[in-house]
Amino acid sequence: MPPVMRRAFACLLLALLATPAAAEAQAPAPLPPLAYAAPTASVARGAPLTFAVRTPAPAGSVVVRVSGADDVDLNGLLTGPEGTWVDETVTPTPDGLQIWTVPVTSVLRQRPGHYFWQAYLNGDAATGAEEPIGPVQELTVTVPLADRGHGKLFPRHGRRGGASFYLTSAGFPPTVDGLRFQKLAKKAASRWGLKALRWTDVEAGVQDGFSVAGFSASVPRGVLGVQTDFVKRGRVIERDLALRVEENWSAGPDYPGLDQIDLESVLLHELGHMAGNKRHRRHCANSPMIESLGAGEWWRGARDHWFGECTSRARAMTLAHRIVRVG
Ligand SMILES: [Zn+2]
Repeated sequence: MPPVMRRAFACLLLALLATPAAAEAQAPAPLPPLAYAAPTASVARGAPLTFAVRTPAPAGSVVVRVSGADDVDLNGLLTGPEGTWVDETVTPTPDGLQIWTVPVTSVLRQRPGHYFWQAYLNGDAATGAEEPIGPVQELTVTVPLADRGHGKLFPRHGRRGGASFYLTSAGFPPTVDGLRFQKLAKKAASRWGLKALRWTDVEAGVQDGFSVAGFSASVPRGVLGVQTDFVKRGRVIERDLALRVEENWSAGPDYPGLDQIDLESVLLHELGHMAGNKRHRRHCANSPMIESLGAGEWWRGARDHWFGECTSRARAMTLAHRIVRVG
């Protein structure tokens, strides 16, 4: 625990310095390290959330930074791509704390997942402090177990399927665990009444007599996955599912990071097509059959979903279905 050790060392050093210097007592005492009073390490989605720091630093000089990842810069300050972290200046209370009461509309109250936060000093307060940047803490926003995505998706979210398909190792990305993919595909398939069979190595999205689900380099940019029905004389003779290999996939079970695509959501969607549900719902509808999905978003169940950009489709990528007539 380097931050704790560093703090203990600093206190000792201050005590040693303070003894002989006490008589002079000219310069103002440096600010003590920022002490965190809240929140606890884990809070439930929607529950009240307050960040509280105990410090004598002047009003307006203490900032709480919350990030979607634990990356820090050389000074130990949380950092990352724009939009993945937020700064909030905390407000003094009469009991010596400086707090930020998070509004109910904030992502932090609405979106389950792992977050990282710290307090830091800015301006003159930072100059006079031994540790202007506080240690990083983890905050987990949880979903009740009963609300997590599970159970059948028909008839509420569409019609039931009956087809079976193989999993393919062809073009499989090294960033996705094969066993995890198998587990997700089996679960998503059974929620639609479909069946995921054993592994094979034929290409996904190509007509070859085998219905397969897997990854492909042929899925165009801007499209996360394509489910294809190969139709001959009005009958579906093969059903394939191809996921775009060059995406930053998150295979869970944690929720995706703000720059990741949720594999479970995309499988649920594409397998929904395979089950016979061809129509799309608008982005942000409470449905697995939404037309698009953005990075960091998911739909795993009616009470287990989160969408960030519901007013614009700019960031979201589409989820496609196509019919190829053969013979
Ligand atoms: Zn679709």
